[in-house]
Amino acid sequence: MYNRIFKIEQSLKAFETNAIRTQVERSEFLEHTTPLYLTSSYVFEDAEDMRASFAEEKDRNIYSRYSNPNTSEFIAKICLMEGAETGFAFASGMAAVFSTFAALLNTGDHVISSASVFGSTQSLYKNVFPKWQISTSYFKVNEIERIESLIQPNTKIIYAESPTNPAVDILDLELLGKIAKKHHLILIIDNCFATPYLQQPIKFGAHLVIHSATKLIDGQGRVLGGITVGSAILIEKIYLFARITGPALSPFNAWILSKSLETLAVRVEKHCKNALKVAKFLERHPQVTLVKYPFLKSHPQYHLAKKQMKRGGNVVAFEIKGGIEAGRLFLNAIKLLTLSANLGDARTIVTHPASTTHAKLLEEERLEAGITPGMVRISVGLENVKDIINDLNQALERCC
Ligand SMILES: *Cc1c(COP(=O)(O)O)cnc(C)c1O
Repeated sequence: MYNRIFKIEQSLKAFETNAIRTQVERSEFLEHTTPLYLTSSYVFEDAEDMRASFAEEKDRNIYSRYSNPNTSEFIAKICLMEGAETGFAFASGMAAVFSTFAALLNTGDHVISSASVFGSTQSLYKNVFPKWQISTSYFKVNEIERIESLIQPNTKIIYAESPTNPAVDILDLELLGKIAKKHHLILIIDNCFATPYLQQPIKFGAHLVIHSATKLIDGQGRVLGGITVGSAILIEKIYLFARITGPALSPFNAWILSKSLETLAVRVEKHCKNALKVAKFLERHPQVTLVKYPFLKSHPQYHLAKKQMKRGGNVVAFEIKGGIEAGRLFLNAIKLLTLSANLGDARTIVTHPASTTHAKLLEEERLEAGITPGMVRISVGLENVKDIINDLNQALERCC
């Protein structure tokens, strides 16, 4: 396993086994676990080796902006998990999102996107793409059928996330896959909230899958990272774009992320178990008017979630009586849990989107994305769930 766009042979081994046993070749020191390859470049045997390598007649490492053993290992693991042919790893989730669009779109192209996507992805549509005359049309999470009416002759990509942030809505991936196929559009799914352990969008027809590895893939809030995996033809274009423009993942971060994947299955299992308990606690609480969690029967897309996800994920959204002011008081009353912009950390994180991450949007735009004034988002961590619930309970008692 080297560099460039090596194609991954799909394995018959189970998810956890691949996560642990996929490894770059051992060095002459016969280390058990993969070492950290902190090198910016690689050496050549002679002039002919160097010529052939640059001419891409050989598949080998040349320079770490193109490839590095640690990033190759990380990419190989994610490809196995997602059922993807190949991929490229980036310095952050947004580097993956931007480079994927930039590599595939031309001036004047059109994107159809879910209205509920990550804030910076929204900003790309609104503030960056217009300078290349790239326009975006939006569909709401429960209006996937409307996509067909949004298609234009210059439409290239359908883009969506599921579950969404922060409202934890579920989109029908199979339906998205069918629409993309029928109209020859590229379907890209940001699978960050689910992780490949819970959901593999390629099975439902996605051509590319993007992750912010900063979230559950790292899982301990240490490093930034991103990755795009999927069809080899599309990844080739993304690779050629990234190789020139330089958004590569650092080998150190790749090493951390590849190690993190060894425990992804056990961590995500526990995150989801804790999250379901937290969701059930909140559902019973008198100060809480609404709880959104994909594996609660009351979730509007419960059956869809059950069909396309293994478990419900680690994010719970809920509505406190008393709107924006109650939301702020609630955050101030939190003691053990943390107020932070991240998610998917071992530490439980609480945010109030209307007054923080989504404060710049108009009230109307927030409602489009499913964000009500009193909505609180919890990224449920790996602490003992009793302690998580106790903290939420005391804060709810003091805020309302
Ligand atoms: C965090 C996040 C991103 C961006 O990832 P970074 O690593 O912060 O650049 C993209 N999509 C989703 C759904 C995210 O949660």
